[in-house]
Amino acid sequence: MHKDATTVEMNAQTKINRGKRGAMIILALAAIFIAAVSTPTKDHKKTFTVVIDPGHGGKDPGNIGTGRFKRTEKNISLDVSLQVGKYIQENYPEVEVIYTRTGDTYPELYQRCEIANKAKADLFISIHCNANDNRQAFGTETFVMGLHKSEESLKTAMRENASIYLEDNYEKNYGGFDPKNPDTYIAMSLRENIFLDQSLALAKNVQDEFRVKVGRKDRGVKQAGYYVIAFTNMPSILVELGFLTNETEEDFLHSDDGKTYMASAIYRAFKAYKEKTDLKTGKASNATATNIPEENKPEISAETTKPVTESTGITYNEVKSGIKFQVQILTSSKPLNKKSSEFKGLDKVDEYISGNVYKYMAGCTSSFQEAKTIQKKLREKGFNDAFIVAFENGQRIDLNEAIRKTTN
Ligand SMILES: [Zn+2]
Repeated sequence: MHKDATTVEMNAQTKINRGKRGAMIILALAAIFIAAVSTPTKDHKKTFTVVIDPGHGGKDPGNIGTGRFKRTEKNISLDVSLQVGKYIQENYPEVEVIYTRTGDTYPELYQRCEIANKAKADLFISIHCNANDNRQAFGTETFVMGLHKSEESLKTAMRENASIYLEDNYEKNYGGFDPKNPDTYIAMSLRENIFLDQSLALAKNVQDEFRVKVGRKDRGVKQAGYYVIAFTNMPSILVELGFLTNETEEDFLHSDDGKTYMASAIYRAFKAYKEKTDLKTGKASNATATNIPEENKPEISAETTKPVTESTGITYNEVKSGIKFQVQILTSSKPLNKKSSEFKGLDKVDEYISGNVYKYMAGCTSSFQEAKTIQKKLREKGFNDAFIVAFENGQRIDLNEAIRKTTN
């Protein structure tokens, strides 16, 4: 605690003393940044592009963990990345998945950013494994771009960025960016970060999935100056799957099950993020769950709804056949008592089970417009994440398909 406060104080002092130098670094960084954004190339059939960046590779093994395994961070990050991409491709035909590498190669860090910026990607996900001198340290953390709030976060970012030193022309390619210079991180953090909210939303989804569904220790969403998330011009996160310096966690992350759990968690975080984005933009979302482990089985209504009039102002008109819209308000790994305070006094809540997850919905209508009113009211009631879902004859269907069918 004391150490962190001192670091922040020292950083503030350095900022004042090195203001001029900082300004020069900003200019240099801005030049690199502008150079990185050039002609876009995009598959027109795809409406959303995600770039997945498996950390390290080739000559850069990443961290080697306890040293008990031949495979290192670069192998685990690649395995998990490819699995995440596979799940997305299987379920979202309209999403283009671009990898910064698919084999044991080392794209330079600035090239990884270029790949994403040239593709005008909608999302950038970098996947890594953590290390610490303290072998007891374990758990997951997800980073978004920003000024580190602890010395530990700065150290993690410095270690990851040090890959640059393995590159041949790093002084030429990175201008004022010096992975081991604290000034670099302050200068970088002063850049405008217009994607912070979206990055934070995705990062939170990832950590929630790791904690709730995979039972990992949640070290939280953090900020730090990782090169790849600083110079990508879109919402960007960097996921640290866990500590390879911790024997138990290293065993887990080397196991097939471990990698599958972590990959499916990141996939579900992506799915939740995309559903929200689609709702805001009115874009089509065609997710059709297939081979996703755990709770990502097709969602089937487990209960038939009965007509009830809500006394809380939430419209509930039973729809006997065809398409109905409802608003999902909560999910839980255990069944919830509908009389509990979590439901804020709603007297008609439907439950359906998808895999091991219990999902709860309020309101019911055959009109999408009315569903939007219900959603608004539920958000005002404090269900901040309430979103609209659609069913056709008891089967969960794509929302946009439902809107299309009900408006035609
Ligand atoms: Zn790494």
